[in-house]
Amino acid sequence: MSDAGQGVIQGVCWHRFDSLDAYETELRLNEGLWRARSLWSESLQTTQKQLGDFPGHCGVCQRPSVFTYSPETEEVNVREALVCAGCQLNARQRAVWAWMQHAFPTNRRWALYLTEQATRFYQASKQHWPGTRGSEYFPVSAFERLSAYVTHLLGEHEVLRWEDVCRLSLKDQSIDGLVCLEILEHVPDYEAAVAEFLRVLKPGGQLIITVPFLDRTHETLVRARLNEQGEIEHLCPPEYHGDPVDGEGILAYYHFGWDLLDRLREVGFSQAQWCVPWAPSMGLFSRLWTLVAVR
Ligand SMILES: [Zn+2]
Repeated sequence: MSDAGQGVIQGVCWHRFDSLDAYETELRLNEGLWRARSLWSESLQTTQKQLGDFPGHCGVCQRPSVFTYSPETEEVNVREALVCAGCQLNARQRAVWAWMQHAFPTNRRWALYLTEQATRFYQASKQHWPGTRGSEYFPVSAFERLSAYVTHLLGEHEVLRWEDVCRLSLKDQSIDGLVCLEILEHVPDYEAAVAEFLRVLKPGGQLIITVPFLDRTHETLVRARLNEQGEIEHLCPPEYHGDPVDGEGILAYYHFGWDLLDRLREVGFSQAQWCVPWAPSMGLFSRLWTLVAVR
């Protein structure tokens, strides 16, 4: 990973920022560019909603494909709902993939760890990077249901792993890349989780995160917390996110701000940046924020 700034990597233009200040400076200096991109994204989102598919090149499938806007709700949400017809991955996942392709070229076997296993993203990663492992965290009652699903998705040889992200059963400094997508906001003690990620990463290893991100706010919004009795206290109206295992969804404790970078540096990551890709022909537009930290 190089310094903050802008660069085109494998057809994707990445902007990387160390702080909210740096981001706001960029927005000021290149106001026209960012406004044009916003307008372009907004208008495409609107037409997309009416028209359905648009053709492009999928970086995961490595061939021409069609991106389909398939929202579960009325709200326009390109990040979650713009899905490739081939790999079935949404824009957020395809943005992470683009960074992973840059960080982990397939000329060697990388030890990658995903904090998910019962997903198409895991399935695709395992195919592309054979050294990929993953796990899920769920109520014990769901084990059989999830085991059956994992076997269905990934085949007989895949063994379901149950792991708490705050206490991984991995050796110190054993992992080249750890990918944690839409999990951290559900972990009350997320700082323990990122400290654990640091422990298992090799020096130079990368942590890749996506979470709900307030890109114009420094301080993380705490939506809920655990009190001393371990009970949930809601500080905002409760927000539940979909879970491949639990149909009722899981509570989001946080919407993160730029200070997540500070927390990562405090636990010992040498670099932490919020990155945003731009490659409309690959179905990557809108602000697909992806956090990259280096041990
Ligand atoms: Zn695809």
